[in-house]
Amino acid sequence: MRILFMGPPGAGKGTQAEIVAGHFGIPAISTGDIFRANVAQDTELGVEAKRFMDAGEYVPDEVTNLMVRNRIDEQDAEKGFLLDGYPRTLAQVDELDGMIRHTGHRLDGVVVLTVDPVELVARLTARAESEGRADDTEDVIRRRQEVYTEQTEPLIEVYRQRGLLCEVDGLGEVEEVTQRILDALAGVEES
Ligand code: ADP
Repeated sequence: MRILFMGPPGAGKGTQAEIVAGHFGIPAISTGDIFRANVAQDTELGVEAKRFMDAGEYVPDEVTNLMVRNRIDEQDAEKGFLLDGYPRTLAQVDELDGMIRHTGHRLDGVVVLTVDPVELVARLTARAESEGRADDTEDVIRRRQEVYTEQTEPLIEVYRQRGLLCEVDGLGEVEEVTQRILDALAGVEES
């Protein structure tokens, strides 16, 4: 099982990614989490990524691509993986296609979580208060949303044309949303 999770900042990708990956017995690989772990440990990658993350910009493709390539080469990802937050640019789509082709597998589905924009800002502001993420201030939140619209939203059409897209309403109880995702994925698996 090789699946991708997409959605605007605050759509609840991280929460659902963990649950759905657990359901399929595959690792949930979150590029945002890997970057944050590197920032916390003050690694070279972390120092480089932090500048972009704090401004709400995407980390450059070369840096992100290499990091993902190394991660999915690890043994636990051999039987499949759920990528949360990658790809986010058209260049990353190409790169991921190459990585998957190289392993002789294919992509099984792309989940896009949709949430009303007003609800999104409310969720992110609440998260800023509870978790204290450096990129959850109002200005940076707005910038992250713009970058998502400009650079990541176009990917939805790419995957729709490939017949891989599962658009799922992200509003509701966590369990409810999980069930919608599993139902939608069952649909693409059959087609
Ligand atoms: P959000 O849920 O707000 O979209 P993430 O936790 O997924 O945030 O990612 C946090 C930050 O990490 C992003 O704003 C970006 O700077 C960086 N990042 C994560 N994934 C990618 C990616 N695929 N390409 C470039 N930058 C990324």
